[in-house]
Amino acid sequence: MGGLLSVDDVLSRILERVRVLPVEEIHVAQALDRVLAEDIVAAAPVPPFTNSAMDGYAVRAADVSGAAPDAPVFLTPVLDIPAGTTPSRALGPGQAARIMTGAPLPPGADAVVPVEQTDDRWQPNGEAALPDRVAVHRAVAMGENVRATGEDIRAGQVALRRGAVLRPQDIGVLVSLGQARIPVFRQPRVAILSTGDELADVDQPLAPGQIHNSNSYVLAGLVQQCGGVPIRLPVARDTLDKVRRRLREALAHAPDFIVSSAGVSVGTHDVVRTVVDELGHVDIWRVNVKPGKPLAFGDVGGVPFFGLPGNPVSAMVTFDIFVRPALRKAGGADPHAVPLVTAVLDEDVTLDGRRTYLRVTLSERGSTLVARTTGTQSSGALMSLVLADGLLIIPEGRTAARAGDQFPVRLLRQVTRS
Ligand code: AMP
Ligand code: MG
Repeated sequence: MGGLLSVDDVLSRILERVRVLPVEEIHVAQALDRVLAEDIVAAAPVPPFTNSAMDGYAVRAADVSGAAPDAPVFLTPVLDIPAGTTPSRALGPGQAARIMTGAPLPPGADAVVPVEQTDDRWQPNGEAALPDRVAVHRAVAMGENVRATGEDIRAGQVALRRGAVLRPQDIGVLVSLGQARIPVFRQPRVAILSTGDELADVDQPLAPGQIHNSNSYVLAGLVQQCGGVPIRLPVARDTLDKVRRRLREALAHAPDFIVSSAGVSVGTHDVVRTVVDELGHVDIWRVNVKPGKPLAFGDVGGVPFFGLPGNPVSAMVTFDIFVRPALRKAGGADPHAVPLVTAVLDEDVTLDGRRTYLRVTLSERGSTLVARTTGTQSSGALMSLVLADGLLIIPEGRTAARAGDQFPVRLLRQVTRS
């Protein structure tokens, strides 16, 4: 197709213009889904001391090397070590320490015999007296049932990398390291604007010829999924003056990006491009992609601006292709990380040579994932995205794809296995 730019070229032009946002510090309790701005190097080991992995008796492995179910070795308990205490003395030969999971191993001990392999039958009432002797019914190797200092994280180890999108387990590691204040990238603030005389907000009744403004809400959700903070503006009518006013209002929120939908194609009322050119500048790029016709990109008062198509499917898909990587780059995350699987198309489709994103459901057939389109692929039919497990991506330059061909699928939800 002549005059069309490739998706990859357009995306790299966009990413060239995106700057990474500054770093801020937050409390670890607020860190879920935030992007780490520095490598986290462990200042101390985790666990911080060698401790027992079982409830039982800390022993010297050599003392019990001959123990067997019918030939117990008898030891003298000299210490009781609940978790949260420190042993008051070392173990000598023939001695044992009753020890609970997570309690520090006493000096002299080098292994733990689980209570089930002794004759002790204590009650978990917090006050069981130490027996005079304990029979050990099994030999243990040196280090058995013992967690060494630094076994989880060594001092000096890089535990988490800059750019990590923090998950609950990452937060657990930060807390284990005693790190209360976390350096993260500031979240991109994204002003969202919908334009169109036909749009009514969700709580307004529809006058003849009107539809509800779904794009603003979809885009706000997508911004949040990319780690951004959405700022939803009221609908702008299709006049130069109304669009100008809304864009100035957007700037007053000091956003990092402005994303609008509709009004950037060639209709007589598509005034957004005119106003954006006046308040900043705009490039209209004809991109070799389906769905999604022209994409507007530029700036409004120095703030990066995306003008997405009005059709709801085109708006969401072009957001995913172009805006998501930009927001992720600004927010310090990997712009290109996206969940992909490979699937086998289950039907023939005809194509027009553009890179095509088909809305598909996925199912398992034996060990392969099979993709079927979700009915109508009209760029106005949002249900095609509701039903879809993913977007199947057919590369540029093809006029047909056949049942049995393999393609990457960008997952839109987690696919469960039956
Ligand atoms: P346009 O880009 O203005 O030509 O709009 C293309 C199509 O998208 C038209 O059918 C519009 O009614 C529809 N559309 C535009 N904006 C929205 C919106 N915010 N929510 C839902 N549909 C929209
Ligand atoms: Mg319109």
